[in-house]
Amino acid sequence: MVVLLLTARWVLPITAPPIEDGAVLVQKDQILAVGKRKELSAGKDAKCINLGDAILMPGLVNVHSHLELTVLRGTSRGQSFVPWLISLVARSRCMTEEDFQVSATWGAVEALRAGVTCLADTTRTGASFHALHQAGLRGITYLEVFGMHGDPAAAVSPVLARLKNLKGSSTRVSIGISPHSPYTASGPLFLVVDEMARQERIPVAVHLAEAPAESELMLSGTGEIRSRFWPYLDWPVHDWQPPATSPVKYLDRLGVLRPGTMAVHCVQVSDDDVAILAQRGVAVAHCPVSNAYLGNGVAPLKRFLSAGIPVGLGTDSAASNDTIDLLGEIKFGFLLQKAVHGCSEGLTPARMVYMATLGGAQVLGLSDLVGSLEPGKKADLTAVQLTQVHTTPCYDPYVTLVHSARADDVVLTMVDGKVLYHNGMVFSVPESGYRKKVEELSVRLKKNHPAPTAKSQSLEGTKTGTEK
Ligand SMILES: [Zn+2]
Repeated sequence: MVVLLLTARWVLPITAPPIEDGAVLVQKDQILAVGKRKELSAGKDAKCINLGDAILMPGLVNVHSHLELTVLRGTSRGQSFVPWLISLVARSRCMTEEDFQVSATWGAVEALRAGVTCLADTTRTGASFHALHQAGLRGITYLEVFGMHGDPAAAVSPVLARLKNLKGSSTRVSIGISPHSPYTASGPLFLVVDEMARQERIPVAVHLAEAPAESELMLSGTGEIRSRFWPYLDWPVHDWQPPATSPVKYLDRLGVLRPGTMAVHCVQVSDDDVAILAQRGVAVAHCPVSNAYLGNGVAPLKRFLSAGIPVGLGTDSAASNDTIDLLGEIKFGFLLQKAVHGCSEGLTPARMVYMATLGGAQVLGLSDLVGSLEPGKKADLTAVQLTQVHTTPCYDPYVTLVHSARADDVVLTMVDGKVLYHNGMVFSVPESGYRKKVEELSVRLKKNHPAPTAKSQSLEGTKTGTEK
């Protein structure tokens, strides 16, 4: 049996202190041993990958993405939440099923190059399931459900059919379900989805308490979601009554907050809301860049952690971040908390890296498989080189990872013991072919995208004039 020995200046097991001059021994899809290079290499007839001056660590876990929106990178023009949502829907309407597949696959390529080995991806079309599978990545694909009116069973029916079709068809990519948010899925629809998730034993993801506009709608039934977004969608919801409470308390009142649920964003939350999330066993996908990008605020990360809520880091889509660089997300998330709350104890570079690896795996219920370097776990690994000017010198690998490293320092991405990316080469996806498709698609999107209305432009602040 072929055994693979990976060696590096630093090995980060996450569940144990960093190992200088370390190694990881891999057999087939599993980690056999983690330790000092000298100890693991003695007497082993192994194929060796010497990563040299690098950090070898568990693959990064991105707990919230929308890979199918990757081609919408750079289209936001600084919009606030509701105008951004409307533009997103407008552009999505110009895309075919094949376009979403190209977009999702391009996002998977970006993940491979960024050292991400596991993604929890939310998808309207199902495209990311195929993209993750083709790219050799691990993850959960959450199928999105929408509908503020009409028969909830009818809204769920096509999603259930897709779920039955996809479930079990990949050993690495599993299926979840996502009632999109409290402002795009009705109470009855949340209940139907909850029942379906229990029956199918699948996890649930929901965008929750993301924006001030969502809180305003839930509390008083007013604001831009009601006055602009719903009319744009032509939803007949004139007689909709607000629950007159916070988004978190609304879903709790419905009884759908429970273990197995991942709440995405949770920016607009009170201390009471945080306590409810903790009591119900809900996990949080923390997306600091996207939250800032859309002007939605800063989520209370330290309060989540002190309440014992499992927290992972997510990039959200390229349409509200512009990159899917989880190393960049770690740095931004860490510094943002310090900027707002000061340099108090409790949040350290090591804690941030934990969130982007084992913490994320715990949020997704995958921590028995991935998230740390331990014998018996899946060989999902990432290596970050330390040879660049901006990563030299390195006194502490955690500090360098958080403050200096970025996606293009990743030199190796491995899932299930298979090298999917090494030294600039992606092996599982024909990258140059997809680059051409993405560029053709972007030209068509720019040409086809309906011009923003005068009203929406007035809400977008200063226009850059770069988009025709
Ligand atoms: Zn999202």
